[in-house]
Amino acid sequence: MKRIDLRSDTVTLPSAAMRRVMAAAEVGDDVYGEDPTVNRLEALVVEMTATDAALFVPSGTQSNLLALLAHCQRGDEYITGQQAHNYRYEGGGAAIFGGIQPQPLEFSADGSLDLQLVKSYIKPDDSHYARTALLSLENTQAGKALPLEYLSAARVFVDQHRLGLHLDGARAFNAAAYHQCSIAEISRPFDTVSLCLSKGLGAPVGSVLCGRRELIQAARRWRKVVGGGMRQAGIMAAAGIYALENNIERLKEDHQNAELLAAGLRGIDALDVQREEHQTNMVFIQLPAERSEALQAYLSTQQILIGAGERVRLVTHLDVTADDVERVVGEVKSFLQRR
Ligand SMILES: *Cc1c(COP(=O)(O)O)cnc(C)c1O
Repeated sequence: MKRIDLRSDTVTLPSAAMRRVMAAAEVGDDVYGEDPTVNRLEALVVEMTATDAALFVPSGTQSNLLALLAHCQRGDEYITGQQAHNYRYEGGGAAIFGGIQPQPLEFSADGSLDLQLVKSYIKPDDSHYARTALLSLENTQAGKALPLEYLSAARVFVDQHRLGLHLDGARAFNAAAYHQCSIAEISRPFDTVSLCLSKGLGAPVGSVLCGRRELIQAARRWRKVVGGGMRQAGIMAAAGIYALENNIERLKEDHQNAELLAAGLRGIDALDVQREEHQTNMVFIQLPAERSEALQAYLSTQQILIGAGERVRLVTHLDVTADDVERVVGEVKSFLQRR
């Protein structure tokens, strides 16, 4: 029986074709700037995003950390979301390594941060306060593609208030697929953008931080400091190039499969299915925690993996087909209707 893993799109496995380009990759010492495949990946990202420079890093967490360190000094703060990855799920790295304080705010229903709310949290220039240096957005946020007009409005806003603007674009390619626009259009308003290669794009490892030249230069220095300088990293960069060249177009299939999953699950009375119109490859289901634990346990006996809790996130990705979705819906139905 095929295993279907809906816990995250980080679980995607490198295909045989991806492994072949990895095995054949030309490599050198990337800390010396001499790995031709890493250089090719960084150049490709620069071209695709229309930014000045790019930096290959081991993870999205490190990419966000380097961006925060590049934008902020010790004693500065960044405004971000309560549920933002770079506030909630990165171990407090900015505070640990940079003495940088987060100012988290509630995300709006569409995954944006309300700019009037942000404005009210920008600190006056006064020694009582940390210095507000950066606004950090996330796109997609819980699978929601931020409106393109909002991104432009955020640029105008940070210019007015002299803040930097960072995008945690771990799934920015999903946002581009949703809007049927280029990744350059999503990236344009930002000073720095972090892109994950190891989620729906299917590379085993790696993220790319891109943006303004001086910020990426600073990030390159910080990457070495935090131990992210890798040597013959071209083996992994080759997977990233393969992902960018082959796995972007198909992201819309993940969105269609998520739609299919939501439609199937909506037919089940015991479930509250949450999938808003602008959501991409995620569906959320709500049910009592003990029910969801029982559901999780049952599904695992059927080789279907999901999370547990009162609100469960189901994520579609390149290792999940429309047939798999049908099987999942059938199994969820049979379990919840049986008891
Ligand atoms: C996955 C993710 C990251 C980075 O995760 P890593 O596991 O460190 O690569 C950053 N931001 C968001 C929104 C993510 O989903």
